[in-house]
Amino acid sequence: MDTLTFLGTGDSMGVPRVYCSCTVCEEARTTGRNRRLRSSVLLESGRERLLVDCGPSWGWQMERLGERSAPPLLITHAHYDHIGGLPEYADACRWLHRKGTVYAPAEVADTLRRMFPWLENNLAYQPVDEGLVWAGWEIAAWKVCHGRNGFSYAYRFEKAGYRMVYCPDSISLNEEEKRPLHDLDLLVLGTNFFKEEAPQASRSVYDVTEALELAAEVKPRRLLFTHQSHGIDLDTVYPLPEGTAFAREGMTVPLRREQP
Ligand SMILES: [Zn+2]
Ligand SMILES: [Zn+2]
Repeated sequence: MDTLTFLGTGDSMGVPRVYCSCTVCEEARTTGRNRRLRSSVLLESGRERLLVDCGPSWGWQMERLGERSAPPLLITHAHYDHIGGLPEYADACRWLHRKGTVYAPAEVADTLRRMFPWLENNLAYQPVDEGLVWAGWEIAAWKVCHGRNGFSYAYRFEKAGYRMVYCPDSISLNEEEKRPLHDLDLLVLGTNFFKEEAPQASRSVYDVTEALELAAEVKPRRLLFTHQSHGIDLDTVYPLPEGTAFAREGMTVPLRREQP
């Protein structure tokens, strides 16, 4: 059975934040239930593995998994928390004597080439603008609003009637951007805070209250929140509807429809 594993569930800075002594960061430093690496997931199908995003925590995420083979990557956007591990990834590919496959929309790949020109020998970029079939999954990319931070891409995965979306960095989606979110078995959505008080113009990711409004509209069967900042405390019981939860580090989700 295919599965999705959360390798990281943190926001762009991760948890704890070096400068911060809030209860969440202090708990993350000690018992560690709130310790969060940068957001990334692993899709597994039999022996095939695909990583979505490759942030600066990539090396440690692979160590934690016991993974030594540098699986192919699918990239959502060229922000540091999603691609900061690329030099380490490319170096692993060099040692493994092969090119690493990096699936990404063409404009994202162009940015990555400009940012990391010295990695070109070890990486093979594959455009996904027209979609991708990987291990029987039909994967479709679309561009989503990332607020003050510009844009990201989200991915919709479909296999044998099971549909899921991974959308870690988005906010204020318009009707067209919301369309692929309908009729999902699983929606993985980034939410930095439960309720973010910062002015709208300075924001870049949904908060939980807005995500619940979105979910009420698109009605996923299951909703998991990722990209959580130190504003989210996993020791707190939040009022969440059935089928909705915060993703946790290392959590694995079976990708099949639950029998009623
Ligand atoms: Zn991010
Ligand atoms: Zn903090």
